[in-house]
Amino acid sequence: MLLTKSGFHKSEECASEILARNNIKAAPIPLEEIVIKEGLNIVKYDLGDDISGILIINEAKGTIGVNPKDSYYRQRFSIAHELGHFLLHADSSAFFVDKDFLIKYRHTNKNYSNAERKQEQEANAFAAALLMPAKIIESEIENGQILGLTETELIAQLAYKFKVSEVAMSYRFTNLNNYF
Ligand SMILES: [Zn+2]
Repeated sequence: MLLTKSGFHKSEECASEILARNNIKAAPIPLEEIVIKEGLNIVKYDLGDDISGILIINEAKGTIGVNPKDSYYRQRFSIAHELGHFLLHADSSAFFVDKDFLIKYRHTNKNYSNAERKQEQEANAFAAALLMPAKIIESEIENGQILGLTETELIAQLAYKFKVSEVAMSYRFTNLNNYF
């Protein structure tokens, strides 16, 4: 099941709102600052080898747990993903546990229902839109020193600037090409 256009736009719109509300117009996105302003706590906690992020909501207060064993870029993506669950999917009390986002929502993984898979895709789309806003990527490309770069080099340069993995930036490029 692919993320529907409406699911994608919901995630994009929510991320845009957060960026506007916090007056963020340049990369890298100050993620932890945003999360704290949105009223959540971040706790670094050894979650074991295969869990990269959790979200606990108790009486509308959210705590994001992130695995300090993961790379810095991975931690950023996990935090943004959990913020997405908080904003898009959470009730006043909820509990999300995230293993490998990229495997979790694969079509062939029968352990998750379609509804769960949709939530994971939306949280990923939100994380991508928050950490790699289309407008800021556009202005980086317009104003940056990109002449003569191959697409791979451009993606590497942008990934460095936005503090995301090259894989995440490369997915973002593909998705933006498909939708816009
Ligand atoms: Zn998730």
